[in-house]
Amino acid sequence: MSDKITAGHVHMSGCTGCEVAIADNYAGLLTLLDKYVDWVYDLTLADVRHIPEMDVALVEGSVCINDKISVEEIRQTREKSKIVVALGSCACYGNITRFCRGGQQNQPQHEAFLPIGDIIDVDVYLPGCGPSPQLIKNVCVAAYLLLKGSDDQKALAEAYLKPLMMLSKRGTEACFCDLMYDVIDQGLCIGCGACAAACPVRAITHEYGKPQGQRDLCIKCGACYNQCPRSWFSFDVVNQYESIMETIDAAMAP
Ligand code: SF4
Ligand code: SF4
Repeated sequence: MSDKITAGHVHMSGCTGCEVAIADNYAGLLTLLDKYVDWVYDLTLADVRHIPEMDVALVEGSVCINDKISVEEIRQTREKSKIVVALGSCACYGNITRFCRGGQQNQPQHEAFLPIGDIIDVDVYLPGCGPSPQLIKNVCVAAYLLLKGSDDQKALAEAYLKPLMMLSKRGTEACFCDLMYDVIDQGLCIGCGACAAACPVRAITHEYGKPQGQRDLCIKCGACYNQCPRSWFSFDVVNQYESIMETIDAAMAP
């Protein structure tokens, strides 16, 4: 395979938990850095002060729109990156920085934090607080194969990434009605309760293992949709899962 891709970690308003999740790949991270990725930007790990051109930007955290530097940084990230990944739930839908909204006690200072998809176009969503290390590793390898792999590898990488790309197109606009239509009514719900746990205004309850939404409480933040493991269910991925994982495992073999 050809040369490495460039990638970096852009830290907006997050707790650094997503960066810890990247590091939790241990030896896998070393393989990634050794074979596939030049890590060109990361306030914690690299001595680079200005956002450079890069193939993949992993953005952690939401954006405080009262902070001009943060707004400028996220705009530059979009301009200078081929693929922008919203890494973790704060970047995807605001997560904890939106927990003040709706029926909960008002904290006006938190109203200024927006998920990155409200400011720039985002290519891939990786929800989770933080996302699993394995998912981050798989997405990094798939991004590499999409940019530099053979035609077969590109096709498998695209199949794997497509549901996460679709999730980013929903952005923060999806709400409980979308969850109802795309997941529950399709018989895809596994009753895991992640939607109810994620809802910042407690608009979702579980009755007999099934989520029920109170639409008058819903503030349409997208949290339930993004956190639902079935909102990005894809028969393409299921049908090709073994080939996709074999390709990723082969790429990560020492
Ligand atoms: S039901 Fe979903 S979209 Fe509505 S407020 Fe709760 S988490 Fe947000
Ligand atoms: S998160 Fe998705 S799968 Fe889990 S209970 Fe809610 S709708 Fe069902």
